Amino acid sequence: MAIHYRNFPVIEPFIFDSIGCCWSQDRVLRPKGFPLYHYLQTEQGCGTVKVQGTEYVLNENEGLLISPYLHHSYERNTEEWLTAFATFTGTIHSSIDKMVGNKPIIFIEKEQGAMISALINEIMENWDLLSADTRALSLKCYDLLMHFTNSRHPRPLTDEPLYLRYVAPIIKEIETHYNSELTVSDLSGRVYVTPQYLSRLFRRFLGCSVYEYLTTQLGKLPVKLRLGVTVTAETVRKEQPDAVVIATSSPYAVPDIPGIHSSRVFTIKGLAGQVKLPMRLFGPRLLEKLTHVFLPVGKRVVVLGGQIEGVQGAVFLKKRGREVTIIEESASIGGGIPERFLQRIGPWFRKKGVEVLTESRAEAITDDGVKVRLKDGTQKFVPCDSVMVLMPQVPDTALTESLQGIVAEVHVIGSSLGAENGLLKHALLDGRRVGCRL
Ligand SMILES: Cc1cc2nc3c(=O)[nH]c(=O)nc-3n(C[C@H](O)[C@H](O)[C@H](O)COP(=O)(O)OP(=O)(O)OC[C@H]3O[C@@H](n4cnc5c(N)ncnc54)[C@H](O)[C@@H]3O)c2cc1C
Repeated sequence: MAIHYRNFPVIEPFIFDSIGCCWSQDRVLRPKGFPLYHYLQTEQGCGTVKVQGTEYVLNENEGLLISPYLHHSYERNTEEWLTAFATFTGTIHSSIDKMVGNKPIIFIEKEQGAMISALINEIMENWDLLSADTRALSLKCYDLLMHFTNSRHPRPLTDEPLYLRYVAPIIKEIETHYNSELTVSDLSGRVYVTPQYLSRLFRRFLGCSVYEYLTTQLGKLPVKLRLGVTVTAETVRKEQPDAVVIATSSPYAVPDIPGIHSSRVFTIKGLAGQVKLPMRLFGPRLLEKLTHVFLPVGKRVVVLGGQIEGVQGAVFLKKRGREVTIIEESASIGGGIPERFLQRIGPWFRKKGVEVLTESRAEAITDDGVKVRLKDGTQKFVPCDSVMVLMPQVPDTALTESLQGIVAEVHVIGSSLGAENGLLKHALLDGRRVGCRL
């Protein structure tokens, strides 16, 4: 098992940022993709690489070149999956796009993979010599990159009539109008073919669907990504932007009642913090399975909140064998859940014995349960071992207000607007709208 990382400055046109072989490949999940072009190939065993929803099974000597910032994951299919890989940087690494014909993903077949494998092994064996002579190493890097330039199409794309007639005009359209509302169906209409046929042509010539091509191009826009920064009015004052988009979400409500800070009370914020490490270690699928075996909540759970958050939480808990009671202040439950699912919730709760107390308010949490004021004014004590606070979001306008007079244009989007706009569909639509507008 060997890997080498670049330990010298980037002064050559192309250079490996890392390169390795005989690597016992573990599961990898990169929701935001990888910042460089990278290549992964199977040496022994077999694995599946999922890139933006499409799965590629990599058998021996098959590989995949993945362009930057495409979300992807790998998983081994055999007990051991040995891989070779390389990541590419350099002073002109941005030209790799053009070298590979702007293809976001390139699948390498066995014959060519065998040649790539031999080259990677040769570089690995001579790493000490090559890393002392970065020019020679750069030539090797270029040599490897050349394998991706003609891997699928021996003929240049400009000699392919179908490419010229249907694909090239669409690429031009995307490049010139990426900031307007482009849809695959509109685009295919412009060249008088069906969306399915256009996507087939894109796959044939560029190795991806029209949608994947469109989203990859957007990813290549000159957008600076700065992670780990908490934006305040001071940050905005320093940066002096023309516009600010606030997509910082809103806090989930937590009632200020006696006992709310007990260790048996779980809030969405607390749960999000608790789940971070296990999520990183196990990934969502395995973690979901593990929750059937272990959950840090007791047998009897009271859920405070009966809208989408509380109902989803109650279903989750019931499916893991808990006794669940929902307490909701308003007269109805399930706000935010699409009607077709909502209709099934009431009967399911009744069948499974989930108690739902509407128009009721939790007044205090004690060591043994929750004191609840019912709609008729009487008090009921609901015994429980844990309490989950799964109440809707309440907008927090502090950041927006603090920007008044500092920046001319402020857009508040997504769940920053509160529970009414708290679903993914809202965040996506708002983000697209404001992005196009800006
Ligand atoms: C348990 C749970 C289950 C859910 N299930 C569903 C579901 O099934 N379907 C559905 O549609 N929706 C669901 N949602 C809601 C969904 O997560 C939201 O709709 C979506 O995440 C909202 O996106 P957003 O971009 O507005 O905010 P978020 O995704 O919350 O992103 C806000 C980002 O802003 C960052 N941030 C905050 N303050 C600052 C600051 N000052 N400076 C810089 N960055 C900052 C945060 O770190 C965060 O990354 C669920 C939510 C939860 C908690």
